[in-house]
Amino acid sequence: MSEVKEYVPSVIKADEMDPKFKYEISKMPGAEKIMLCFQCGTCTADCPISRFSDLYKPRRIAHMIQLGLKDRLLSDEALWLCSTCFTCIDHCPQGVEIASLVRVLRNLVAKEKKVIPLVYKELATTLMKTGYVYVIPESRRKKRAAQGLPPLPKPNLEHVAKIFDVTGFSKVLEDIKTFDKVKSE
Ligand code: SF4
Ligand code: SF4
Repeated sequence: MSEVKEYVPSVIKADEMDPKFKYEISKMPGAEKIMLCFQCGTCTADCPISRFSDLYKPRRIAHMIQLGLKDRLLSDEALWLCSTCFTCIDHCPQGVEIASLVRVLRNLVAKEKKVIPLVYKELATTLMKTGYVYVIPESRRKKRAAQGLPPLPKPNLEHVAKIFDVTGFSKVLEDIKTFDKVKSE
């Protein structure tokens, strides 16, 4: 059995703290309520990822934003461990929406560091090419038909391509770097 890696806190230096960061973040859709977090820890207690990874704690993410530790946050691969199950959103007494905060931070990583996990690039590329995030195997389609389910809707690939172009996402996909996997332990 592999040894579980523990989160090792390091001393925070004053020059690492960007006092404007929480205000900048709070202007982004989904992150407006960051200042309401009072560090109760409910999100971490209920987060299914936190149960197996000491490296990913949503309460810590909220605290780091409040402290302005932008560089640490954007360099932390554990950000990509969130499964977007929304349990934290359902349970937060302050309505902070941690899962949305994580999305905002991931977008900042992609924009400023120009890197995402390889699997995300693969999913986005599949979406662009097929209109589906996952390649749907023929066997799955046959199973649906055998169960009497209607065929899956046919994506309009012209519209999909237009959305990717208008939003600039096809260019982002071309240029973005990737890393192989996110370490959880
Ligand atoms: S549950 Fe809400 S208020 Fe409590 S620590 Fe998490 S984000 Fe902050
Ligand atoms: S959405 Fe992410 S942070 Fe929130 S409970 Fe689920 S895995 Fe944890």
